[in-house]
Amino acid sequence: MGATLPAVAEELLKAIEKAFGETSHGRLKFIFGASAVPALDLVDRRAVTRVVSPSGRMVYQVAGSSGKRYTCYASCHFCTCPAFVYSVLRKDETLVCKHLLAIYLSRAVGACQELTVPDEQLTRLLLPEMEEGR
Ligand SMILES: [Zn+2]
Repeated sequence: MGATLPAVAEELLKAIEKAFGETSHGRLKFIFGASAVPALDLVDRRAVTRVVSPSGRMVYQVAGSSGKRYTCYASCHFCTCPAFVYSVLRKDETLVCKHLLAIYLSRAVGACQELTVPDEQLTRLLLPEMEEGR
C-alpha cells in the first residue's frame, strides 16, 4: 500500500476487466470491498461523464447518489469526495472511492458519457470544487 498510484490504477483496471470478463459481482466485491456495489450502481445509471477540452485536458465527473457531481482525476487517481480523503488518503483502508471505481468500470465496459467543453469552461469546472474543500 502507498505505492505509486498511477501504477496501482493500471493494475486495478486490468483486474476490473478480468473480473468483468469472467465472473460475477462477487469477485469485484472481494477485490474492491465496500465501494464495489455502489460503484456498479453508478455504472448502471451511466453517472460517469468524461469531460474533455480542445487542448486535451480531461477530467471525469461522477453524479453521486445525492445528485452532487464529483470531479475526479483518473490520471492521478484522485477524487474530490469526502470518502476519498477520509478512507483512501487518511486511513489507507481501501484503494478507491466508489466514484473512481465507477470511472474505471465505465471505461472498462465503455459506459462513459462524453462531453467536450471549451478550455475556459473546463477550468471553471475545477475551481469551485477546490474552493469547497476548505
Ligand atoms: Zn469519490
